[in-house]
Amino acid sequence: MTSSSQHDLIIVGGGPAGLCAAMYAGRGMLDSVLLERGLPGGELLNTDLVEDYPGFESILGRDLAQKMADHAKKFGADIRQENVESIEKRADGIFDVTTTRGDHFLAPAVILSAGGAPVKLEVPGEQEYAGRGVSYCAVCDGAFFKDEVLAVVGGGDAAVEEADYLTKYASKVYIIHRRDEFRASKLLQKRLFANPKIEVIWNKVVTEIKGQPAGVTELVLEDTATGDASTLPVGGVFVFIGFTPNSWLIKDHYEHDASGYVITDSTMQTSVPGLYAAGDLRVQVTRQITTAVGDATTAVIAIEKYLKERAQEPVREPA
Ligand code: NAP
Repeated sequence: MTSSSQHDLIIVGGGPAGLCAAMYAGRGMLDSVLLERGLPGGELLNTDLVEDYPGFESILGRDLAQKMADHAKKFGADIRQENVESIEKRADGIFDVTTTRGDHFLAPAVILSAGGAPVKLEVPGEQEYAGRGVSYCAVCDGAFFKDEVLAVVGGGDAAVEEADYLTKYASKVYIIHRRDEFRASKLLQKRLFANPKIEVIWNKVVTEIKGQPAGVTELVLEDTATGDASTLPVGGVFVFIGFTPNSWLIKDHYEHDASGYVITDSTMQTSVPGLYAAGDLRVQVTRQITTAVGDATTAVIAIEKYLKERAQEPVREPA
């Protein structure tokens, strides 16, 4: 049986942005609900050590996720395991957030903080060997590759950081990048270059992933300058080439950039009044835990004002 409930605010996505929004909403005495399809924490759950969140010199991603969830609950956050399918504004200005179970959550304001999904290489073998040597999460799958030779694809913070992490388990890690310099932060690069288990393969792209029924055995590479093909024997490949924002959940017309990242104003409001975006799916210079929680803070404070200006008594579920 499906249900329908009314709230002041619906938060879609329970990563750092969503959990921070739930905490502020609780403190602001809003009737809010946070809908998250998995466990609270988002990308934190795919991160080993966090060393750039003020106040925590070094903390495991999953521990920080737990602390954020506990903190939000302390202020009354209502966190529910729900898989959101769509967000649509009705003619009366109320958002209808629908889940895959067919439940409807209604509110005059929504914060979309649903992050994104990893970008795929889109090469032969990637789908076939997914879960059998092709992975998008070093923390989740690294331990399955003890003493194996691995490859990491990408040149951003995630690739460089996770290649370093994978050397905890692997005997050797190749990092394959399509250019001759990384876009990752200098500190992460310094660590990578100091790690004797890592070898960088510059100016190459993966064109095919080959294997046997048990899993991945080799990669076919192509030189970006010459087009020459070569092979690289590996037991697994970890792909970190960015991610696609989950902005497709919005069914109304909204402003976004060419990659689908949501454009907001300085209050985090999207081009759809009452719909706010926070964290990794928003157009911004960088995507850090610190920026995600900053976005969420701004959004909730702005929403309190928005709800007042709307001269509308917060909608409550009938008793
Ligand atoms: P990213 O910064 O967008 O980097 C993606 C990398 O993949 C780039 O080096 C890009 O190459 C490469 N790439 C893209 N498409 C490719 C393809 N089809 N084939 C081969 N290579 C491809 O993504 P990210 O590393 O996932 O980071 C996302 C955001 O999260 C960033 O803002 C980052 O700062 C943040 N983040 C931060 C931390 C941290 O601070 N500790 C950790 C992880 C992520 P080009 O360089 O040639 O474009």
